[in-house]
Amino acid sequence: MSVVLSPGSVEDAVAMLAEHAEAMPLAGGATLVAMRNAGLVEPTHLINLDCIAELRGIERDTTGGIRIGAMTRHCDTAACNDLTGSLLVLRRAAGMIANRVVRNMGTMGGSVANADPAADYLPALACCDAVLEVAGPEGRRKISIHDYVQGWYETALEQGEIITAITLPAPVAAPSAYRKIARVTGDYATASCAMALDPDGKGLRAAIGACGPGPLRDRDAEAVLRGRLDDPEAVLDFAACLAALADPLDDVRGSAEYRLRLIPRLITSVLSEIALQTEVA
Ligand SMILES: Cc1cc2nc3c(=O)[nH]c(=O)nc-3n(C[C@H](O)[C@H](O)[C@H](O)COP(=O)(O)OP(=O)(O)OC[C@H]3O[C@@H](n4cnc5c(N)ncnc54)[C@H](O)[C@@H]3O)c2cc1C
Repeated sequence: MSVVLSPGSVEDAVAMLAEHAEAMPLAGGATLVAMRNAGLVEPTHLINLDCIAELRGIERDTTGGIRIGAMTRHCDTAACNDLTGSLLVLRRAAGMIANRVVRNMGTMGGSVANADPAADYLPALACCDAVLEVAGPEGRRKISIHDYVQGWYETALEQGEIITAITLPAPVAAPSAYRKIARVTGDYATASCAMALDPDGKGLRAAIGACGPGPLRDRDAEAVLRGRLDDPEAVLDFAACLAALADPLDDVRGSAEYRLRLIPRLITSVLSEIALQTEVA
């Protein structure tokens, strides 16, 4: 049995985590409750983040940047009209998570904290250059999404820290898209690709998911591709650079070799979707 505690503030939650060495934060419970029921984790205390107002909601700051509270449910991210243009990719990723039940339960903070390599948010957040806001016993700090995943299910979060929000730069009017290949609709990705075009249409940001412990992004390769998006050979060279960074698993969702083969296909397919968005606009 775990004791459930319900702090009213981030500071109280951090203090409770510090006081109980075997405590864990509880967000939507979509993953944590299943892990606890399977005996994979045995927290003495569950620190329920649901009552903390600061962790809720999606807001714009004075520069137009977006702040997504860690307890924001996937369904609310998927329906958020502020996530347009270059940030539409995040909205699309949220809408492809699992099924309606999981999207109603799960939170962005819980998903990012869990850092499942096959989850949908991390590549989309890498493509958006997101920054995580965290709070812990040493105070508050920010972590770039690019420094966040440090190994398989290993993150830059220190003991006792919680994610409070995910912040994104102001959206710009440029297309972005997300695609995943999964065994069946609603499954985690076998491989995925998040992409956003630069506002001038010449360059892009792209991140591959589920082909390593964290999202794969190669900014040097993005620079080389700039101005050559309509050159199929240049696009395949770009895909090869991302595949060279991959460390794919052989698991129930696909072999490592299959995942590597999906990378160029996903990049080409997301580029086509982005080209369609450009034509429609
Ligand atoms: C059947 C099923 C299918 C799924 N399919 C997909 C899918 O296709 N794609 C996908 O991306 N995900 C999928 N998921 C995962 C889902 O998105 C979960 O919502 C997510 O992994 C965890 O979010 P949660 O809010 O429920 O967190 P919880 O389950 O409450 O917590 C997960 C972990 O994060 C920690 N934690 C929670 N919040 C914080 C915080 N703010 N700061 C620090 N630590 C925190 C917890 O202590 C725990 O270790 C699936 C889950 C299920 C059950």
